[in-house]
Amino acid sequence: MTARTMDDHALTLTGVLTRAERLHGRREIVARAPDGEVHRTTYAAVLGRSRRLANALTGLGVAGGDRVATLLWNQPEHLECQFAVTGMGGVIHPLDPRFDAEELAFIVEQAGDKVLVVDETLLGRAAPLLGRVEHVVVVGHVSDGGDGPAATIAYEELVAGAEPIEWPQLSERQPAALAYTSGTTGRPKGVVHSHRALVLHSLTAALPDALGISAGDGVLPIVPMFHANAWGLPFACAMAGAALVLPGMRLDAVSLLDLLDVERVTMTAGAPEVGRALLAAVDAEPRRWDLSALRRMVIGGASVPAALVDGLDRHGVEVLQAWGMTELAPLGTACHLPHDLADAPDAQRTAFRVRQGRPLPLVEIRAHDESGAEIAWDDCAVGELQVRGPWVASGYEGGDVHEHHTADGWFRTGDVVAIDEHGCIRLCDRSRDLIRTGGEWISSVDLETTLMAHPAVAEAAVIAAPDERWGERPLAVVVCAGGAETDADTLRAHLGREFAAWQVPDRVTFLDAIPRSANGKSNKAALRQLMMIGAPT
Ligand code: ADP
Repeated sequence: MTARTMDDHALTLTGVLTRAERLHGRREIVARAPDGEVHRTTYAAVLGRSRRLANALTGLGVAGGDRVATLLWNQPEHLECQFAVTGMGGVIHPLDPRFDAEELAFIVEQAGDKVLVVDETLLGRAAPLLGRVEHVVVVGHVSDGGDGPAATIAYEELVAGAEPIEWPQLSERQPAALAYTSGTTGRPKGVVHSHRALVLHSLTAALPDALGISAGDGVLPIVPMFHANAWGLPFACAMAGAALVLPGMRLDAVSLLDLLDVERVTMTAGAPEVGRALLAAVDAEPRRWDLSALRRMVIGGASVPAALVDGLDRHGVEVLQAWGMTELAPLGTACHLPHDLADAPDAQRTAFRVRQGRPLPLVEIRAHDESGAEIAWDDCAVGELQVRGPWVASGYEGGDVHEHHTADGWFRTGDVVAIDEHGCIRLCDRSRDLIRTGGEWISSVDLETTLMAHPAVAEAAVIAAPDERWGERPLAVVVCAGGAETDADTLRAHLGREFAAWQVPDRVTFLDAIPRSANGKSNKAALRQLMMIGAPT
């Protein structure tokens, strides 16, 4: 007799959507429009409209597996597109408007997007894409000829003119979303996320020791939906029934802080740059905003300096650092203090919290040295971080399957890390940004973090400059904090207190701004060009 086990029920997002509409229908979705007005709607209304939109998209010829691209902000229509396209069995493909025209055209061409849904404020960015998709749907005002693209359809008319469908039965393995890496280390690469991956990712993200999202939360994702699906927050919030507060296109610190205050937001999420801007604004006017409801800001995408952790702590906001990659849908780790460090002195706790975190349930991590041998967790040695789990990509769009995998099936992240005895990763660098000098290497991230701890420094980036004798030497590029002045010798002396003399950059150059990639990371390729240095070998 064969033993009977559980029902082999498919893990599809339609289950999340149906439950959110029925159970959390009255939970609010609050959104700021481009004119600054705040509009209020609900999960029931957004999901009802999503089911209409799904029907309308079918009418436009979108079938199972077809890709629908979006050029939208964090706005209700973007949620509707995410819900409609995944729910109907299509593949949602948010495009990052910060990519240049050539990159956008390459991505849409490679993805084979059938329909583009674009906000009227982003129509300019859509220009190179208009001939590449079958239909263009515009949220907002559709120009009636003349300057406007020919075959555009008004989003509102499309939704209003269709009856709501019931979600079809889908397979958990089928693709649901397509996201491109931001191209920090080369041409953007496309990653397809399956229903199963996104369901498990949402479930795990909501856990208390992951991001911690419950029905009582109000969540403001500053990280855009066009960047790694806003770190999975829309689906995780829909699953948990958390209210969503969407900032639209107004991403300046004052507009964000106004929303965080008035809407009594409990959790927000964004890049370190955004965290720094929020902190500078509340430091400048500590009494202007009431942030007593805000308990946590999730920060990731780039390393989080201690000054940011301590600074937001001073205003009662806990920083939770997370590490992830587009290839992981995107969350891999979250940095909660282990239980045995709960009573440790403040300095030790902060030192832990600037690490990238411990793996989320279902994600496995390991570090390998250059010979391919695994490094023990409590060994302080650094190596390449490798991961595996149910939301780790198995290959890239248009690329060889497994091209970035080890022979035993682990994904090679290209991040260089040490893993401590708690299983917490400390990211030293991306492998191509390490500075190899005289047979040793220097972490550009460590130098940048220490430079940014100097009060006169707002931003810092360290790159490798070719050197005849040593192979490479570090070159620091610094942006001074507003009103502050410093010089290369002062900063070199500051670094000399923490680094050996051979690790301290020979040159420190001052710039007004550091070039950034689409998602705000320092763009070291552009910086090398600016400094007239070729690509590292
Ligand atoms: P891209 O690879 O084009 O930058 P991603 O957004 O997928 O696009 O970036 C993932 C990378 O971002 C990681 O491999 C890592 O190098 C970096 N990263 C993510 N989170 C952190 C973090 N908390 N600290 C430092 N680096 C991070």
